[in-house]
Amino acid sequence: MESYESLWDNCLSIIKKNVNEKSFNTWFKPIKPIKHENGVLTIQVPNKFFYDWIEEHYLNILKRSIYQVLGPNGQLEYKIVLDKPVKIHEVKPIDTKAIKNPFVYPGLKKSKVPNNLNPKYVFENYIEGDCNKLGKSAGHAISKKPGGTAFNPLVIYGGVGLGKTHLAHAIGNEIIKLHADHNVLYLTTESFTTQIVNAIKNGTIDDLINYYQHIDTLIVDDIQFLSGRDKTQDIFFNIFNQLQQTNKQIILTSDKPPKDLEGVSDRLVNRFKWGLTADIKSPDYETRMAILEEKIGTDLDKIPKKVIEYICFNIKNNIRELEGVLISLMAHANLNDREIDLNLAKEVIQKFITQENKTISVQNIAKLVAEHFEVPMEKLNSKTRKRNVVIARQLSMFLAKNYTKSSLKTIGHNFGGKDHSTVIYSIKTVQNLIDTDALFKDTVAELEKKVEMSLLH
Ligand code: ADP
Ligand code: MG
Repeated sequence: MESYESLWDNCLSIIKKNVNEKSFNTWFKPIKPIKHENGVLTIQVPNKFFYDWIEEHYLNILKRSIYQVLGPNGQLEYKIVLDKPVKIHEVKPIDTKAIKNPFVYPGLKKSKVPNNLNPKYVFENYIEGDCNKLGKSAGHAISKKPGGTAFNPLVIYGGVGLGKTHLAHAIGNEIIKLHADHNVLYLTTESFTTQIVNAIKNGTIDDLINYYQHIDTLIVDDIQFLSGRDKTQDIFFNIFNQLQQTNKQIILTSDKPPKDLEGVSDRLVNRFKWGLTADIKSPDYETRMAILEEKIGTDLDKIPKKVIEYICFNIKNNIRELEGVLISLMAHANLNDREIDLNLAKEVIQKFITQENKTISVQNIAKLVAEHFEVPMEKLNSKTRKRNVVIARQLSMFLAKNYTKSSLKTIGHNFGGKDHSTVIYSIKTVQNLIDTDALFKDTVAELEKKVEMSLLH
């Protein structure tokens, strides 16, 4: 019989192929296999946070790897280092379809449809700040009278990890709490597409459209992924109209406002604009503190306030990352038997920040800017004094200073061998323009967004 170590190693090699390196190192490396008895593989995780995180984010891949390595009756058991109790996680045969076939509920009349809602995402633990006030209050209004407000559809848009999915689930959960007989259905755009593709393949599109007549509130997450999927868009248009006409509620999330959705048909985009479009922005410092404290929950007394402040001060634009840092911190403290203090927090954050920011080069920044101003790249390296070229060059230097670790000298070198005082002068000029010219300020903000987007990949 294989040892528990090699069994776990086999699981790891499957997992490794399916998650990125950073996640693998953070979440799977620290796990220790402990034993394998009666088909149950026991692994040790550093703490409860860790366990929750893995279950929430990696359950499917974990199940799949256990299934492949231990077979259909395999079970995984977690042991949590500090908290003694053991949690058993059974591996039931895996659901190979991305979504359950809706037709297993044929002819239903107001019978319950599985809603796919995550019961953990509720209003009670959704912290309100200026960044999300509009969406949250619209969500509350909708929950009271789904389909009966002007917010139909509600389109929630905002950057990665800012709480769109959480808010969408919270509204759904509140609706079923307040209206017991109400059918809510939550879907990612991916599952929605899969459903449609399957229905097309099986010739059951009409059934699918009928099925949607039983839904009172439809939530579709990440509609930017509709882009380029014309057939899915057609069917969605159909379903959308049908739901609208019967005063059913529609809630959508997107990473951009409807008007900026590319590859989505105009008629669908127009429908999206009918109701309320609410954006979620990056949370301010106070809101980040409140969110992190909410996530820490009952362990608040174990983490010094200074550490929480330090994390919130440094991680600004992504709440998922804020949580990631926290959990990583707890893991490091437990594994290395260290106290959670500012030094440890600095080490952990350093890892996050450098890993996130390592990718953009001065040249790539210059390319983004050149494209934006529609000037050829090589002009940026030339001696041209044409106004738009000069601005593009100065702005590239400004962004390179903020987004790369390159020295002023290196930056200058990248633009036709300018010396470092020219770079300083350029940065100052750009800063002055930002302070005095609102339009220019917007341009810079837009370019910063582009740079940040490219850092995410
Ligand atoms: P998005 O869908 O916008 O990428 P998510 O909804 O998945 O983001 O949120 C990422 C993480 O941040 C989730 O764990 C979520 O619970 C948390 N989060 C986001 N906003 C809030 C908030 N206002 N209050 C509490 N937790 C939040
Ligand atoms: Mg989401």
